[in-house]
Amino acid sequence: MYRIRRFAVRHSRQFEWIYNRLESALVALAPVLSRIGYNRIERPVALIEKGIKGLLFDCQMCGQCVLSSTGMSCPMNCPKQLRNGPCGGVRPGGFCEVKPGMRCVWVEGWNGAARMRGGDRIREVLPPVDRRLAGSSAWLRASREKAAALHEARERERSTLANAFPTARRIEPSTAPLADEPARAIGRGKTG
Ligand code: SF4
Repeated sequence: MYRIRRFAVRHSRQFEWIYNRLESALVALAPVLSRIGYNRIERPVALIEKGIKGLLFDCQMCGQCVLSSTGMSCPMNCPKQLRNGPCGGVRPGGFCEVKPGMRCVWVEGWNGAARMRGGDRIREVLPPVDRRLAGSSAWLRASREKAAALHEARERERSTLANAFPTARRIEPSTAPLADEPARAIGRGKTG
């Protein structure tokens, strides 16, 4: 609904906060979710996401949500579906060239971004929409990717530390444990 969509943009800071909490919760739950199977929960989560975001943002379920980079104004509501700023046809007063009764989603987005902590992200160039992802849950994809990146960074850190021990031991034996590092810890064995 147009009025609710505009309300969301006016309260973009609060929605940004809610979105960040939701993402952190989904990242924390990643081990449980992957045990259940992301494929299994994809459909119900996508339905919930569609219901909530459809109401609040007129979400079109593009599957790669960029609301946090567009001031909480969904760019898929632009009749031209522009992902990187307005066209040259914005009417006086910030109205859309194609739908004169509707404010340009990018004018709205710019105002919404000004209220957000991470509002500067509106200046970043967004990739084109991947139509193959339409209908899928952006919540699950984003949180799954973030959880995987965190896991990878932790593993890298762990193996760097483990690999540093033999060198430390050679230089000053009393500063490092005497036992060999388990193969798992230095990435030569299976990781959990
Ligand atoms: S950017 Fe995509 S997922 Fe996000 S609200 Fe718009 S249509 Fe929905």
